[in-house]
Amino acid sequence: MSQTVQQSLQSARQQLAQLVPTSEASIEAQILLMHILGVNRAWLLAHATDLMPENSVQDYAHLVQRRLQGEPVAYILGYREFFGLKLTVTSDTLIPRPDTETLVEAALQKIAGPMRVLDLGTGTGAIALAIASHAPQSQVTAVDASERALKVAETNRHSLQLANVSLLHSHWYTALAQQTFDLIVSNPPYIEAADQHLSQGDLRFEPLSALAAGEDGLADIRQIIAQAPGYLNQGGWLMLEHGYNQAEAVQNLYQTAGFAHIQTLRDLGDNPRVTLA
Ligand code: GLN
Repeated sequence: MSQTVQQSLQSARQQLAQLVPTSEASIEAQILLMHILGVNRAWLLAHATDLMPENSVQDYAHLVQRRLQGEPVAYILGYREFFGLKLTVTSDTLIPRPDTETLVEAALQKIAGPMRVLDLGTGTGAIALAIASHAPQSQVTAVDASERALKVAETNRHSLQLANVSLLHSHWYTALAQQTFDLIVSNPPYIEAADQHLSQGDLRFEPLSALAAGEDGLADIRQIIAQAPGYLNQGGWLMLEHGYNQAEAVQNLYQTAGFAHIQTLRDLGDNPRVTLA
């Protein structure tokens, strides 16, 4: 079957529009084709009337089918950009979100010199690696309870050549013994277990252990905050991502644990998203 680049894009766009809004369908159609052909967007525009290379029509149709089944684009491509870093992602890890860049920016503002940083539940390593690459003097320890996620984080650590990150298998603080840190960061699971979004859209392809946290979504955040004082140096900070409607509850948890200077930051969508103290 011979088809031009433009025709292929158009038919993919029409199919993807059944799944996502038209503007996204158009972008996703392009991203998937760029991936198949190994080209950039400028190439697609310049070669719109070229015939598609042999086999790539079928290969493209296959990727579009996977997307139509609901598989997230990041899992199909095998990577996602986060804070300017190209990160390998697999279905063993949460897909890094732009909202989490708020947490990284806030962390970088607190870091000066050779501070010790802990990232709890690192997944792809997104937060830890972004911090380590922008604060090269910091020493970042990144832990995850999932061995499979740690493998992905190690792939990313290795490809980014960030020697100031060490990875450790640990369920929250359990494997940290007596270590203490100047800054603890985390994007823990925080969605209510019964939330219907967990079985919809991209979320249903992501690890539930990275998303759901008990009946009220605060089970892990509660534990992380309560135990943090034992792992923080004097004057250290704890910084957590949470749900858009959890800021007040999270502030109360910080207060109960004896934290001071409690502050909530908003994400790119203007939702309260990160609370630090
Ligand atoms: N922000 C993500 C979402 O709602 C959830 C991430 C998380 O649970 N840590 O899609």
